[in-house]
Amino acid sequence: MKKNKKKVIIANIKMNGSLHFNEAYLAKIKENFNNFKNLNICLCVPYPYLFQAKKILNNTKISWGSQNVAKFENGPHTGEVSAAMIKEFGSKYVIVGHSERSTAYCESDENIADKFKKIKKYNMTPVLCVGETLIEREAGIMERVVSSQIEVIIKTYGAQVFENSIIAYEPIWAIGSDTAATPDQANKMCNFIMDFISKKHKCDLKNFNIIYGGSVNRKNAVQLFASESLDGVLIGRASINFDEFNQICFAAENN
Ligand code: PEP
Repeated sequence: MKKNKKKVIIANIKMNGSLHFNEAYLAKIKENFNNFKNLNICLCVPYPYLFQAKKILNNTKISWGSQNVAKFENGPHTGEVSAAMIKEFGSKYVIVGHSERSTAYCESDENIADKFKKIKKYNMTPVLCVGETLIEREAGIMERVVSSQIEVIIKTYGAQVFENSIIAYEPIWAIGSDTAATPDQANKMCNFIMDFISKKHKCDLKNFNIIYGGSVNRKNAVQLFASESLDGVLIGRASINFDEFNQICFAAENN
């Protein structure tokens, strides 16, 4: 990552929290995290808590957002939540294509591409998750898998659509496990993604970040942040443990 560029820290709160828990948690985050100077922090909360995040985090440097979005504008789509609705609650970032969703709900790459575009239409920042399974890594085809996930979006919308967006390299085998990618594995894939967009697709992006996600914790954070091509991290489980999250942010701030 370029010197003087702020690191991106996205918390994927997943299906955790409650009004009561969030009240104390968000207040603590507001009190402690507003002091970080070198970080862009965003908490991606379950939809019902966007209102609460807005109420507590408004007028701070901490952003909030959601973990999914509908690909439709509006209409008869029971249970879906549109980009316009998410935006109304002051959201800045939206996670899209998370493997827990694509696996459980059979989300296609084409669906993910449409959702990505909707997020951009409402001037929010998509956090596109890409990554390979363990079998794919062991077969040595992880770059092919990741590039094909990105290519679907490029084919439909062009590589320039990645301006003002984030790609999170999240190897599926590292999510929710005890095994994070090594800094070298993360670094190599982030470099590959950057080259794929900037060289293969000849696209020079000004505001574009590539981050890593998958079992990031306070122990591996320092080494991960030392990786040159990582612009930040996407944190799952560790984001709802205040001390753990705080220490990861501390490592990011000081590296
Ligand atoms: C995630 O689900 O995006 C994630 C990174 O989870 P964890 O940190 O718990 O592996």
